[in-house]
Order: sequence, then C-alpha cells, then structure tokens
Amino acid sequence: LDPHAIAGDSQAILEFLAEYYRDVDKYPVRAADLEPGRVRKLLPEAAPEHGEPMEHILEDVRRDILPGLTHWQSPRFFAFFPMNASSAGLAGEMLSVGLNVVPFVWAASPAAAELESVVVDWMARLFSLPRRFLFSGGGGGVLQGSTCEAVVCTLAAARDRALGRLGGHEAIARLVVYASDQTHATFQKGAQLVGIPSSNFRVIRTSAASGYGLTAEAVRAAVGLGLVPLYLCATVGTTGLGAVDHVRELGEEARRHGMWVHLDAAYAGSAAICPEFQDYLDGAELADSVSMNPHKWFLTNMDCCCLWVARPRDLTSALSTDPEYLKNVGADDGGAGNPAAIDYKDWQISMSRRFRAIKLWVILRRYGAAGMRAHIRRHVAAAKWFEQRVAADERFEVVVPRRFSLVCFRLAPRFGRDDDDGDDATNHANRDLLAAVNASGRAFMTHFVVDGKFVIRLAVGGASTELQHVMEVWDLLQGKAAEVLQHYVK
Ligand code: PLP
Repeated sequence: LDPHAIAGDSQAILEFLAEYYRDVDKYPVRAADLEPGRVRKLLPEAAPEHGEPMEHILEDVRRDILPGLTHWQSPRFFAFFPMNASSAGLAGEMLSVGLNVVPFVWAASPAAAELESVVVDWMARLFSLPRRFLFSGGGGGVLQGSTCEAVVCTLAAARDRALGRLGGHEAIARLVVYASDQTHATFQKGAQLVGIPSSNFRVIRTSAASGYGLTAEAVRAAVGLGLVPLYLCATVGTTGLGAVDHVRELGEEARRHGMWVHLDAAYAGSAAICPEFQDYLDGAELADSVSMNPHKWFLTNMDCCCLWVARPRDLTSALSTDPEYLKNVGADDGGAGNPAAIDYKDWQISMSRRFRAIKLWVILRRYGAAGMRAHIRRHVAAAKWFEQRVAADERFEVVVPRRFSLVCFRLAPRFGRDDDDGDDATNHANRDLLAAVNASGRAFMTHFVVDGKFVIRLAVGGASTELQHVMEVWDLLQGKAAEVLQHYVK
C-alpha cells in the first residue's frame, strides 16, 4: 500500500474510466462477441509470475475484456432493471474499498457501524417509511449486498419466531411461505435455504384484473387448513411487469394469520423518494421487514440493499453468534433500542462485511434528496412519453399500465387468435422484433411472458439515460417493427 502506487494506479484507472464513460454510448450495448470460451482462449492458463505495470493490464482490458461486456451503463441499456452507477457512487465506492474497514462488530470500526445506522435511518425518512423501521422507533436497518441475502435473513427470523411459538423444530414441516406468480424467484430460493419444504412454498396466481398485483382475497383463498402460514411477500414493482401488490390489505390479511410480511421494493422503492409515489407503500407499517436496492435505481454502484426490520431482535435472535474472538465492548449492547453500538454481523449472513454506508452517505450528500427526485422523475417522464407513443401506434399495445419507469408492450395481435400455449404468430413476431433490436447494438431490452404473451420490457433508469435516448429507441423499434411485420403480414 505504497501511497505513490495507490495514487498512480488509481489515476490510471480513473483516466481509463473517464474515457470509457465518454465512449460508452458508441459500443454495441449487448456484448458484441457472444462466443462462449472466447476470453479463456485469449488469456494465459496461469497467473503471471511477476507483477506487471497497470498500463499493460488496462491495454488487455480494452482489447480482450471490453468487447465481451454488455454495457450496463450505456444510456441505451433498457434490459432487466437498471443497475445504476454515478460519479458520487464511484467516489463513495472508492472510499469504501480504499479504507477497507470491516464493521462486523461495533468496536471493529465504530464510526463505520454508526454511519450505517445513520444512513439507513436517513433512507427510511426519505422514503417516508413508518417510524417503527427507524432506530428511534424501535426498529432499524442494515446495508446488505442483495435482496437475496436480505430475504434469507428475514425468512430465518420469521421461521425462528414461529418455531418458538409452536414449541419445536418439527413444526418446520408445517410452515408455509406465500408469494405470487410475480414475486421474485429469490423468495423461493430463500425458503429452500431456511429449510421450508419445497411443497410449502405456495405461489398464488395473479391476473390482469388486479394489474398482476396480489390481493388479500387471493391470499385468503390460498391459506390452507392444518398448516401454519409463516411468511408473505408483498412486492411494490415486480420484476417482470412492475406490478404492485396491495400492501395494506395484504398486511391486514397476513396479521389475521400471524404471518411475517416482507415488503420487497427492490426496484420501485427508489421512486418513493418522490411524494407522488409514496402511496404505493401505504400499509408499510403492517410489514415486519422492508427492503429496497439503491444499486438498482438510486445512483448507487453495486452493491447495496437496504433492509429494515420493525423488531431487530427477531433478526438477531436468528442470526447471532457469539464467538470469543469477536467479543467487544459493543457485543452485549447491539440490537433494539441501542443504535449506538450495533454488531452488524448479527443482522446478516456473512460475518465480514463491506463499508457500504460510506458509499450511500457520499451519494446522498452529493446529490441531495432534490437531486434524487429529479433523477427518478426524469426517467418516469421518459417512460411515460414512450408508453404514450406505443399506445398511439396501432401496430403496438401496452400490455400492463406503467406505474414507474418500466413499459411492458408488444406488437399487437393482428395475425388471428392468440393461442393458449403462447406459440402463436404474435409471440413469434415479438421475439423477432426484440432479437432485431438487440442485434442492432443500439439498444438492449429483455422480455417477460404473462398469460402466454411474450412481452417486451423497456426499463428506463440508466443513470445517463435521457429522453433523447428513449426517443431514439422508439425510432429504432418502429423501423425494426416494419421489417419484422413484412414477414408476417401477407
Ligand atoms: N426483488 C425484485 C422485485 C427484483 O426486481 C429483484 C431483482 O431484479 C430482486 C428482488 C433481487 O434482487 P437482488 O439481485 O439484489 O437479490
């Protein structure tokens, strides 16, 4: 860690990145070279015996690595959900990895642990989360790497709470986790990981009538006799369609059955910084835990997931360990009611952990709440513009009403009836359209399937995506649609 080497190497990387971001719009968005095994062929079989200058390494990055990357930070990246990056996010991440401290217990880096508790409270206030998720309200938050990890922790907490009540581990066979057919797959994975029998992971069907949101009525109908309802996931902004579950009514229904309610706002949670989106979180006070990913749409470089719990002790009872080598002044003080000395190792899966708080803190301070609201509203406005164009063009249709910055659309059926098995001409045409757009290198989008319909998703949210890029992708789509439709319409 020679200070000159730190400055020199970092400078070279920063120049490389500045050049990359200057040019990123020129690269084909999706990896141009899709041949599996290409990188392995290019690289030596073993690591070098002697160190090499950073310049040589960066040359290889340019030549061998960049052509095989999909450029997630391209302003024309509209696939999956965005994974934001920003200059403040990069700067914050540099501080985090540069300082490289490990706040697993409070005393291992007191300011890092305390900053984390402050930043999660700031975030909760920005999203107007109920007071019970703030440390001052008896709850609290933690920064994890992904929603996947956060969900496993909440499932473990819910499981142990229920088993404590039921008086024995054998009861695990009767615990049931409920999710909708739009819930992210991470909940199924999490349920498996905490030992819930796979047949007790119940998927409840949603329909177009509720905008693919989960309703209390559907949960009521699904809750079976003889089993113990354990956990219900409510999502605000589902992955496939951006649908919204009815949080308040789900919360009320879940309480009647004594279920743990988790509110997953991984993507759309960011929008709740704008008052006009806060209604979607109405009923959040009925949840036991809430999570959102700043690394999706909140200008935060990977990785960062905020998890809040109403009763930290539920979490720490399930996840605490107390090895002698980690004992410290804070060890007996962590948890509910004492935000001053938290042992965050008891709030997550891993013991060692990153100093994510400083990254999020830098971002919040650099852009401020007003800057963040402007960032969200810019994308929502661009998505709205696109949705209006789609709706006004008779060749296309909007498949579900847009709620945030995700537009789900397709070429409208015009080749006769949609088949029930989804293997119809409309689906084929839409697949061809998506393939043509992505092959052009000028945009990258992904798809979803709902009720047998192949749906194209335009997820607006890249940190440098402007209305102009959305307008250009609309032009591109129209051109490709005209080509594709020639093959289908005689
Ligand atoms: N929940 C929703 C609604 C998501 O959209 C995603 C990812 O896109 C996840 C959960 C999983 O998030 P992570 O990749 O952080 O585990």
